[in-house]
Amino acid sequence: MIQEQQLAEAYRAVDPWYWAYYNNIILPTGPFLLEGHEYQVELLQSEAQKECAIKGAQMTFTMTDIIKTTHGMIYGKYPQGVMYVFPTTKTGERFSQSRFTPLIHRNPHTIGCYVSKDNVELKRISDSNLYFVGSRSTSKIDQQQRSTVALKSEPVDKLTFDEYDEHDMDMIPKAKERMSHSEIQEEVYLSTPSIPGFGIDELYGESDQRIWMIKCEHCGKETCLELEFPNCLKERADGSIYRSCIHCGEEIYPHNGHWVARYPDRSKDMVGRWISQLNSKYINPIDILGAFNDPQKYHTTLTDVYNYKLAMAYVASENKLKPNDIYNICSWDVMLTKHPGPCCMGVDVGTLLHIVIAYHPNDVSLKAVKFATVSSFNDVHDLAKRFNVECAVIDREPEIRKAREFQESEDYEIFLCDYQEEQRHAPAFNSKSGLVIINRTEICDASHNLITIPGRYVIPRRNKEVERYALEMSNLAKVLEENPETGSKSYFYRKVGADHYRHATNYMLLAAMRIGVYEPEDEGPKDKWSDGFEDKETGNWMSE
Ligand SMILES: [Zn+2]
Repeated sequence: MIQEQQLAEAYRAVDPWYWAYYNNIILPTGPFLLEGHEYQVELLQSEAQKECAIKGAQMTFTMTDIIKTTHGMIYGKYPQGVMYVFPTTKTGERFSQSRFTPLIHRNPHTIGCYVSKDNVELKRISDSNLYFVGSRSTSKIDQQQRSTVALKSEPVDKLTFDEYDEHDMDMIPKAKERMSHSEIQEEVYLSTPSIPGFGIDELYGESDQRIWMIKCEHCGKETCLELEFPNCLKERADGSIYRSCIHCGEEIYPHNGHWVARYPDRSKDMVGRWISQLNSKYINPIDILGAFNDPQKYHTTLTDVYNYKLAMAYVASENKLKPNDIYNICSWDVMLTKHPGPCCMGVDVGTLLHIVIAYHPNDVSLKAVKFATVSSFNDVHDLAKRFNVECAVIDREPEIRKAREFQESEDYEIFLCDYQEEQRHAPAFNSKSGLVIINRTEICDASHNLITIPGRYVIPRRNKEVERYALEMSNLAKVLEENPETGSKSYFYRKVGADHYRHATNYMLLAAMRIGVYEPEDEGPKDKWSDGFEDKETGNWMSE
């Protein structure tokens, strides 16, 4: 008997699942169960150093990870502590209060007795600290201070990023520095997916790509619901829907599943798991299929059905360019080395300067003649001369002083561009201040339309620079984002990779509004493009 007890205690110490199950841990949502949560067993028992999960909404991965962390802290696995990083300070605080605090109070003998400090941002369990922080603050003003302060705190042995896709990606490396002195260095990334190839979808793509394979009780073969949707759902005579074996058509049950890695040789670098609401005991598959077939009827959108229910990254094609969209408008012409103009120029300022130069072959279209990446404003000056640039737009940030100096030294019209959300419908050019203000979403819509509306834009034939251009043009995705403070939703172009050429194109489009049409017969430029732009509702590209 004593031996049995010792053995049970040994299991509790090494196995977080066994510990939670046999201690009857009470979660904020009810008792910790096996039934309906079979896919969580491996999560709790895993000893992988790096893990990611691409998941449907309400699949309780965060709570499962919290159980694993709490167990590890009680048994001394994370002496330097653990940090949970949420998208915002507010979501971190909310989780701490509504999820973790109840866990302490409902389990006084298994968890509560080890907790010596219980703040919103910090819990002390056994001898180490558990932090709940946000990678960005909800308000822009204190964003810099609060997030940095939060992430600058003590060293830790484990980091969990919750709702990874909503994070300020620039903060991720800073957060990871907290683990630089740890010998344990566990990383966990959890999220519902958003944009293909971005965030959790990118991490999962590089992982060992585990899927939940369900064994059929009838034929013994296995089906992954996520991979086979919608063919894995079948209708009975009475109209109800069941999960079906892809091989024999009989009903299958998620509790008969197990994790299978599609790339087992990658497990040492990153374990990845993908599970959707198709495997949830609490969601009737008829609602998933119904919402997929008719999102409006279910008061949702197709994007939300993909992301939250099917756990698939998705973006409607009208919301993101693909490199092929850009290759479709390539001409046979090589990039020019000079042009008589008048040309317009857009310059994106960063470590390098990205330049797009174009002219108007007629009233309605633009022809790009040069894409270039240069390292100094001197190079920009030389290019502007060779292409007879009459108007240039340059971004104001991040080199305000250099951009101003350049603006003052050149002898053609230059505007520094500021993206402002309050600006609507038309860019505001101010010749006096040398500034142009534009709504970021609207100008990104305009450069999207420039590519997709036939006859608007022609670019040089494909080469390495054009390929870079195509890729960077495609690295913004339009997503509906909720303001965490007001709850209101609005469209926002999210950066999913280097996007310098997209902004350079936005600036070129603005400059194009102020130059005339190219006249090969040397009649001199027509002035209709630059007439009266200061006050008029400008530019047909904004209204489409
Ligand atoms: Zn079967």
